[in-house]
Amino acid sequence: MFVVSPVPFPPHCRAQLSREQNEKAKRGYCPSRRTVGTRGRLRRNFPSCLSSWKTPPHALNSSQSEAQLKATSNGPPLAPLQTFTDEEMMIKSAVKKFAQEQVAPFVSKMDEDSKMEKSVIQGLFQQGLMGIEIDTKYGGTGASFFSSVLVIEELAKVDASVALVCDIQNTLINRMIGKYGTEEQKATYLPKLATEKASSICISETGAGSDSFAMKTRADKKGDYYIINGSKMWISSAEIAGLFVVMANADFSAGYKGITCFLVDGDTEGLHVGKPENKLGIRASSTCPVTFENVKVPKTNILGQVGHGYKYAIGSLNEGRIGIAAQMLGVAQGCFDYTIPYIKERKQFGRRVFDFQGLQHQVAHMATQLEAARLLTYNAARLLEAGRPMIKEASMAKYHASELAGLITSKCIEWMGGVGYTKSYPVEKYFRDAKIGTIYEGTSNIQLNTIAKCISAEY
Ligand SMILES: Cc1cc2nc3c(=O)[nH]c(=O)nc-3n(C[C@H](O)[C@H](O)[C@H](O)COP(=O)(O)OP(=O)(O)OC[C@H]3O[C@@H](n4cnc5c(N)ncnc54)[C@H](O)[C@@H]3O)c2cc1C
Repeated sequence: MFVVSPVPFPPHCRAQLSREQNEKAKRGYCPSRRTVGTRGRLRRNFPSCLSSWKTPPHALNSSQSEAQLKATSNGPPLAPLQTFTDEEMMIKSAVKKFAQEQVAPFVSKMDEDSKMEKSVIQGLFQQGLMGIEIDTKYGGTGASFFSSVLVIEELAKVDASVALVCDIQNTLINRMIGKYGTEEQKATYLPKLATEKASSICISETGAGSDSFAMKTRADKKGDYYIINGSKMWISSAEIAGLFVVMANADFSAGYKGITCFLVDGDTEGLHVGKPENKLGIRASSTCPVTFENVKVPKTNILGQVGHGYKYAIGSLNEGRIGIAAQMLGVAQGCFDYTIPYIKERKQFGRRVFDFQGLQHQVAHMATQLEAARLLTYNAARLLEAGRPMIKEASMAKYHASELAGLITSKCIEWMGGVGYTKSYPVEKYFRDAKIGTIYEGTSNIQLNTIAKCISAEY
C-alpha cells in the first residue's frame, strides 16, 4: 500500500480554510488527503478555491479573454497553471513512487526484450491507473483528466512505454466509451478496463496513416451483426489488449462518413494479432499489425452512431494529443533529471563541466523550453476539463513537447559525452523513446496543419 508523503496545501487555497484548517495546512495537512490503497481508490475532490476552472462550457467561448473570464467570476484570482488539487498532488506522488519502485527495476530489461513486464501491467491496474477517469460506480478511480496527464508524465519520466499503455487506456479508450457508450456498453467494459483489460485503438492501415480516413477495413451489415474484414497497422498494446476499438467503414458510398467505431473483444474469432515491429524506441510497448478475417461483431457493439466514427476518431485524437504531450514532457524531464547531476559531478580541465558557461547557457535554454512545454500541456488539459476549445492548444502542446523531447534528449547525450552514447546509461533510451512523439497521434507536420487551420479560422 502506498502512503502518500505530506504535500503542502497550496498557500493561496488556505484563504478558503477555517482557522483551524489553516494552521494544519501550514503544517502540510490537506483536508481531504488520504492514503492510496492497493486498489488506488482515489476520489475527485476539487477545492472550492479552484472552482473557476469548472465553469460550465456554455459560459465561455474561445473569443473571451482571460481578463473577461476573471471579471465574470466572483471567486479568487485564477490559480497558476502548476497549481494542483490535493487529489492531483496525491496521485502524482503515488505514481512517482510506483514508477520508481515497480517500473524502474524492469526498464532496461523490457527495452532489451521488447516485452512489457507482467507485474508492471498488473501494478497499473492495482493502483487504479488504468481507469483514472472511470466512475467509481464502474470500479474506476473517479479522478480527473488532468490527473491522467500527471500520471502519464510521471510514468514517462521512468519509462515511455508504460506511460503509453496507460495513456491509450485513459485518454482514448475509456473516454470514448464514457462519452459515446450505451449504459450496457459502459457496464460491460468500463469495470474490466479499470481492473483487468488493457486496450488498443485501431485506426491506421498500410495505406492510411496521416490520411487515416482512407482506411479500407470494411464492416458489412448482416442482420444484427457486422462482419469486419481488413488489416490495421501499428497497433500499440495489441499483444496485451483484451479490447480493440476498431474503426471500419460500414458504407463506402458515404466516403469517410461511413466510418463506424466498433468494440471488439480480443478473443473474437478471426481477430489476429501479428508479430510486433522491431522498433527504435518504446520497445516494451508492442506495436503490431491486427487483421480482421470475417470478424462477427453484434450491432450492440457499435460505439455511438453508425457513420460517426470519423468524428469520434478526430475528437478523441484531439484530446489524446494532450496525453502524448505529457508523455514527451515526462521523457524530456526524466532525461534532464538524470543528466544534470552527472554534469555537476563530472570534472574536466579541473572544473565541473556544469561550471562552464557554454554548458550552463545550453542547460538554461533547455530548461526554459521544458517549462514552456509543461505550461502548454497543462493549459491544454485544463482547457479540456473546463469544456473550453482546446484543439489548437492540444496540437501546440504535442508539437512542442515532442520536438523538444527529441532536442533535449539529444543535448543530454552531448552533455554526458561518450558515456551518454552507451547503453550503460539510460540517456540513449530516452533519446530513442522521444522520436515517436513526432509520429503517432498525428505527425509534427499534421499538428502544424491543425494549428495553422485554427489560426486561419481565428482571423
Ligand atoms: C510506434 C507506433 C505506434 C503507433 N500506434 C498506433 C495505434 O495504436 N493505433 C493506430 O491507429 N495507429 C498507430 N500508429 C500509427 C501512426 O498514427 C501513424 O504512423 C502516423 O499517423 C503517421 O502515418 P504514416 O506512418 O503512414 O506516415 P505518413 O502519413 O506516410 O507520413 C509520412 C510523412 O509525410 C508527412 N505528411 C503526410 N501528410 C502530410 C500533410 N498533409 N502535410 C504535410 N506533411 C504530411 C508526415 O508528416 C510524415 O513526415 C503508430 C505508429 C507507430 C510508429
